[in-house]
Amino acid sequence: MTADRRKQRAIVLEVVAILTLILITYSVSAAIALATFIVGIYVRSAPKSLYFAYVMLAIFVYTVGYIFEILAESHQSALVATMVQYCGGAFISPLMFFFVCEYCGTKLKKYHYVCLLLIPVLACLLLWTYPLNGIYYHRLEFVTTGLVPHFILEGSFFYYLFMGYAVLLPLAAIAVLLFHFRRRESLFKTQAVEIILTIVLATILPVLSTTCSLIFADRLWLNTTPLILSFSCLLLAYSMLQLGLYRIAPLAREKIIETMSDGFVLIDMQGCYVDANSEAKRLLPRLAYTSIGMKLDEVEDLAWLSDENNMSGKEFTLTEPGGTVKHYRISETEIRHGDKPICRCLMIYDSTNTRQILDEVSSLAEHDNLTDLMNRGAFSRNSKLMIDKIGASGGEACLLMIDLDCFKNVNDVYGHLKGDEVLKTMADLLISRFRATDLVARYGGEEFCVLLPNISEENALEIAREMRLQAANQEFVADGEVFHSTLSIGLAVYDFRRHHQLESLLADADAALYAAKNNGRNTIYIARIAEGSGGLPEETWITLERAPDKS
Ligand code: GH3
Ligand code: MG
Ligand code: MG
Repeated sequence: MTADRRKQRAIVLEVVAILTLILITYSVSAAIALATFIVGIYVRSAPKSLYFAYVMLAIFVYTVGYIFEILAESHQSALVATMVQYCGGAFISPLMFFFVCEYCGTKLKKYHYVCLLLIPVLACLLLWTYPLNGIYYHRLEFVTTGLVPHFILEGSFFYYLFMGYAVLLPLAAIAVLLFHFRRRESLFKTQAVEIILTIVLATILPVLSTTCSLIFADRLWLNTTPLILSFSCLLLAYSMLQLGLYRIAPLAREKIIETMSDGFVLIDMQGCYVDANSEAKRLLPRLAYTSIGMKLDEVEDLAWLSDENNMSGKEFTLTEPGGTVKHYRISETEIRHGDKPICRCLMIYDSTNTRQILDEVSSLAEHDNLTDLMNRGAFSRNSKLMIDKIGASGGEACLLMIDLDCFKNVNDVYGHLKGDEVLKTMADLLISRFRATDLVARYGGEEFCVLLPNISEENALEIAREMRLQAANQEFVADGEVFHSTLSIGLAVYDFRRHHQLESLLADADAALYAAKNNGRNTIYIARIAEGSGGLPEETWITLERAPDKS
């Protein structure tokens, strides 16, 4: 073998080695695209993965087509390889755009898809029919002079239109992505920045590569775009995995809403049902049979939920299967998108404990804790309402002012504890003697007040007499000694001409009580309007008269 032949052989071997290396590199790129496509299909259930898989598939087809072009031996087979490339490559940009829109939650209309796919479909048609019509390229020459065979081409208007589109659409995708990032809530910005940068890089690199191959078309014999695209595949796959993590927060939120112990109901601004969690469906079982979008005012049992006014503070009561009565309270929040209210969120929480505490607190605030009778404040409030009602209906009423006689002595002689016992016993006597509709109160220290609605003077007096006697006969024992405690009672008869307000009725009963105290105690005095007092000054209307003992 001559030195020349050996040298020639060495060159051939070197070329074969480089070619093999190139082929291996592109095959690896194709394998990466295929692998990421499979990953995309595998994680399809994850959100935003549909177009991701399509992008990977398009890159795979494009790379395989390019490998065929490298291996082509004739103009014809290289053209077929280019046709295969276009089947994938022409759609990378629109699919990438769809992927970004899907990621950003930008909803595209059907006609957007049609318009955006029109140019690549047209490019494919023109290329596939190129040998027949010659429209797509002005010149297409297959050269084998470089290390790998390739085309030297001169594109037509349509070729550059498509190339411009393939370069500009990814830039539009980046714009959408950045706009979306700007609007993101600051809480998610740090999480999103990495994903967004990755997607931007994966989009911009092939754009740069394509632009370079367009500018230096006559000097480049190897298309680097498939290699760059496989790198983009890896970047996008990484962003997909990140997306999976990113999705944890909303998933966790959904889970929390579903499993939380409060009820959750979403209603849109038109009063239509949107969503509810299990607890809300348990409390309002009709929700489970309500379809999304149904107008709630047309649903039996749920019409009250569609009340246009804010529902916060509204309460309802449910009896549990065991018979326990539970109270529920609603709190409403309006959910806004920008300035526009989009739906109302109703939270239903168990307010039974709060309600019990409030009941206890208001009971404590209204009752005297020694005798358990209504206190002075509650008595004033309730009797004012009662007097107004009686005045409006022209009914009768009497007021008794009852005071323990010489009670100070009881304390002084038998001690305060004994005094308390006497007060409690007297209060129990009052409660047992009066009707449920009568208002019985501890008005002061050892003073009680009773408002008796719908009763005549005679009947009220009868009750007062019985009370006085019962009290006087009640025995108390202290230090082995029996003692008694008596009552003085002032009775005022309600008269609409004089008693415009509760205070005047109280004042008359007090005057009668005062008279009873001044006239021997353990007695009853009546304050009533004297006959024929119409023309006289008002303060002289009242006569105070000792009630005769029962004959
Ligand atoms: P009168 O017949 O004029 O009403 O004489 P009185 O001693 O009953 O009246 P006075 O107003 O002089 O005294 C009332 C007493 O009632 C004084 C006070 O210590 C006592 N008292 C008020 N509240 C209570 C209480 O809750 N428990 C006890 N043990 N004593 C009370
Ligand atoms: Mg007294
Ligand atoms: Mg007193």
